[in-house]
Amino acid sequence: MSIPFPVPDQGILARRDEIIAGLGQLLPFEGLIVTLDERRAFETDALTAYRHVPLAVALPRTTEEVAAVLRYCHEHGVKVVARGAGTSLSGGAIPQPDAIVLGLSKLNKILDVNFPGRTVRVQAGVTNLSITEAVSAEGFFYAPDPSSQLACTIGGNIGMNSGGAHCLKYGVTTNNVLGVRLVQMDGTILDIGGDALDAPGLDLLGLIVGSEGQLGIVTEATVRILRMAEDARPVLFGFATSEEAAACVAAVIGAGIIPVAMEFMDQEAIIICEAFAKAGYPLDVGAMLIIEVEGSGVEMDAQLKRIVDIAHEHNVQVVRESKSAMETALIWKGRKSAFGATGRIADYICMDGTVPTGQLTYVLKRTAEICASYGLRVANVFHAGDGNMHPLIMYNVNDPEDARKAEEAGMDLLKLCVEVGGCLTGEHGVGIEKRDLMRFQFNPEDLNQQMRVRAVFDPQWLLNPAKVFPLDGRDAA
Ligand SMILES: Cc1cc2nc3c(=O)[nH]c(=O)nc-3n(C[C@H](O)[C@H](O)[C@H](O)COP(=O)(O)OP(=O)(O)OC[C@H]3O[C@@H](n4cnc5c(N)ncnc54)[C@H](O)[C@@H]3O)c2cc1C
Repeated sequence: MSIPFPVPDQGILARRDEIIAGLGQLLPFEGLIVTLDERRAFETDALTAYRHVPLAVALPRTTEEVAAVLRYCHEHGVKVVARGAGTSLSGGAIPQPDAIVLGLSKLNKILDVNFPGRTVRVQAGVTNLSITEAVSAEGFFYAPDPSSQLACTIGGNIGMNSGGAHCLKYGVTTNNVLGVRLVQMDGTILDIGGDALDAPGLDLLGLIVGSEGQLGIVTEATVRILRMAEDARPVLFGFATSEEAAACVAAVIGAGIIPVAMEFMDQEAIIICEAFAKAGYPLDVGAMLIIEVEGSGVEMDAQLKRIVDIAHEHNVQVVRESKSAMETALIWKGRKSAFGATGRIADYICMDGTVPTGQLTYVLKRTAEICASYGLRVANVFHAGDGNMHPLIMYNVNDPEDARKAEEAGMDLLKLCVEVGGCLTGEHGVGIEKRDLMRFQFNPEDLNQQMRVRAVFDPQWLLNPAKVFPLDGRDAA
């Protein structure tokens, strides 16, 4: 694969022993990983085509230990790559040889559950799903639900501003985080935002969410929890073609209807997911929508009737409502295991561009054409209601020519998203993967201004420096 990492700093590599000794003064023995075999476990994330063994791995247990490690690295010019669970699909957590990985997995406590205030305060290494698990007995949940929610951490979710199937109605991470404790590169600790809905001052929280570990390290977060709806019902809608399904999505959204979830799967994706999850998906349709409505029985029936009417205007062939909790669980299992199910049959890269819903039909048609022009198979499974495309481009990782084609096809698809008025990333972040396309999305002035903001927090560019911003042009910041 072809995206370059910066040339490692030979001075830092030569001082490795000294740096490890220095970090060893700050952390307990088991908090510092130095052997090659153990460091290899941190060499990549879910963008497995790229990998670099880090200089060392620090595993602090407290905010104070995070601050001490960062202060040391700041003073000694050592780069730092934050890591939650390492499930980033854009290479956000991939280290470089002259950087340490700062793993947040030991910060794994739920600190406070406040039902009257509808908030939960957690450490950054707490997994996404465990927040809902901590409050579900009282009828609450944490809304953003990435398919990786069993493993991914709230710190990583904040890093990437993650989303999920149910974010259409409830918003993504940025809409559900109220405050963070952030350690800056020089070791100073900031509390940004708060426990209430609107914090005074500049919206620095908006800046931190989605900053991909480049502005500071989040050690704690206060998130909003919501009351579960009375009931919820996913419904499968089968269409003869992807175009009809996509046009139906645009028509539902255009009619002002916001279901909880509106997920798209083309025939390739349906077959792959059904083989894995036995979810009961219709195999004889060209594309399928999973649309979930929620509320009381009356509310669900009323919203569903409007959606079904629109679906009939788009020649829907199959309408199948879930009739039981087990059926509902299977429908979501199939959708949420799409990436793993695809990984069973091929290597793949998952693109993450977002387009206006009115452009879905055109973009799906072009996606098929672009992938066919490279001779590559593609499965489309994505958050259709908010236009967040996820073409899974399949290739053979052991064939460099195939890998080059997959990467080029992916870049063409992301450019297409920008050309139709969308953007490079909906929820997976820029990371290493889309870094060099940032110039395609932003003009030089826009990009320089973003880099200047980044430099205010980390003037030496030590935090996750290989990511997000093109390597050339950083001097302008
Ligand atoms: C099978 C699968 C399904 C997925 N489904 C979805 C999905 O539905 N929706 C979605 O949005 N994403 C999805 N993802 C992508 C990924 O799970 C998310 O980006 C997730 O938020 C990453 O969390 P993590 O803990 O693994 O973070 P990591 O991958 O470890 O890190 C992600 C980024 O955040 C930074 N970071 C991590 N922790 C901190 C911290 N404490 N402070 C500051 N920066 C930090 C890292 O430096 C990196 O830039 C999926 C991934 C997989 C493998």
